[in-house]
Amino acid sequence: MDQLLSVAREFIVWLEAYERPFVNDEHLDIELIRHRARSLGLWAPHLPKDHGGLGLSLTDFAQLSEILGRSPLGHLACNCQAPDIGNMELLLEYGSESQQRQFFEPLASGQVRSCFAMTEPHQPGSNPTMLAGKAEKDGSDYVINAHKWFASSADGSAFAIVMAKTNPEAKPYQQYSQILVPTDTPGFERVRNIPVMGHVGSGYFSHAEVRFTDCRVPQSHLIGEEGSGFALAQQRLGPGRIHHCMRWIGIAQRALDISCTYAQSRAITPDEVLADRQVVRHALARSHAEIQASRLMVLDAAGQVDRLGTRGARVAISTIKFFVAGMLQRVLDRAIQIHGALGLTDETLLSYWYRHERAARIYDGPDEVHMDVVARDLLKKS
Ligand SMILES: Cc1cc2nc3c(=O)[nH]c(=O)nc-3n(C[C@H](O)[C@H](O)[C@H](O)COP(=O)(O)OP(=O)(O)OC[C@H]3O[C@@H](n4cnc5c(N)ncnc54)[C@H](O)[C@@H]3O)c2cc1C
Repeated sequence: MDQLLSVAREFIVWLEAYERPFVNDEHLDIELIRHRARSLGLWAPHLPKDHGGLGLSLTDFAQLSEILGRSPLGHLACNCQAPDIGNMELLLEYGSESQQRQFFEPLASGQVRSCFAMTEPHQPGSNPTMLAGKAEKDGSDYVINAHKWFASSADGSAFAIVMAKTNPEAKPYQQYSQILVPTDTPGFERVRNIPVMGHVGSGYFSHAEVRFTDCRVPQSHLIGEEGSGFALAQQRLGPGRIHHCMRWIGIAQRALDISCTYAQSRAITPDEVLADRQVVRHALARSHAEIQASRLMVLDAAGQVDRLGTRGARVAISTIKFFVAGMLQRVLDRAIQIHGALGLTDETLLSYWYRHERAARIYDGPDEVHMDVVARDLLKKS
């Protein structure tokens, strides 16, 4: 594992040369960076070896994920980027043989990308029992009508996994199913890429509004059992939150590292640099302590998932989701403050992360929902 982590560290330094065009939204040669990741043995660390991956436990993957998170391109280069990683894990575990052939294999080998369409503009994402999108049986097909948004990376995706109501008579948490929809199916429409904090983005780096209008797919595209949509979503989101948290720690650590370098080089008087000021040193120390606390918490949560499964680790997962997202905002904010006006430009990655990662406190469940899970558990035990 130490050898793998050290290869990953070197890879991330190599990737820095490709970050600048990315910051400026110019064309990025994804195949080039993926070729390098493959040749270094970093491809698909989350997948079992017999599916072309590295077969890492969640705890080992978490450590690697922190290193990859230091670059906005790290996970994408190694084919373990959200939302594809969640879709791969779901299909591997619950996909039928034909779904694995048609959807999982091209995804795992990096030939295609995919997206996950659950959230709707007119319904509260934090209470998914209110989702309105539906899939009705007609002959041997499902006919899907749904309006979704924030389907990350839908632009350029070969297929979507959509969450739609299939069993309106069932109990609220058994009404929905997850269904595979190739994006060239008639009735699937990517309406637009949604501007986020002033950036529309494109391709992998975008979030789309999508519509399914009388969109017809064979019933064989249903993943798992009918009505199991929520159970599958929980399975997917457990490891998914560990992945995000470790990526955020990688971002925070790099923001701290570049802050240290800058603080030591930026003169504020003829004989003093920023790092000579106690207020700056305290900001660095605070960020370090918060990052280290987050790292240990996430590794503990990953260990719980490895030992107890997603359900058993539910409270630990909710705890890190809101705690680490908050840590990331604070560390990035301090880093920008230390860099002054430079921190707001696109000359460093700080402004990109600040814009892009504000969403960390919202996606995969907003802070408040996760805090409720933790508080309910505390109160039950008291
Ligand atoms: C960058 C980004 C990427 C995303 N990617 C995807 C994706 O790929 N696929 C997908 O399906 N979705 C995606 N989402 C959507 C995301 O999962 C939802 O935004 C999230 O679940 C919250 O739903 P909502 O936006 O409808 O907020 P709402 O449910 O309307 O909540 C609004 C606010 O109300 C507060 N709130 C909500 N519930 C409670 C409560 N119980 N108690 C107290 N306060 C509460 C919170 O502050 C919350 O932020 C993405 C979102 C973002 C920002």
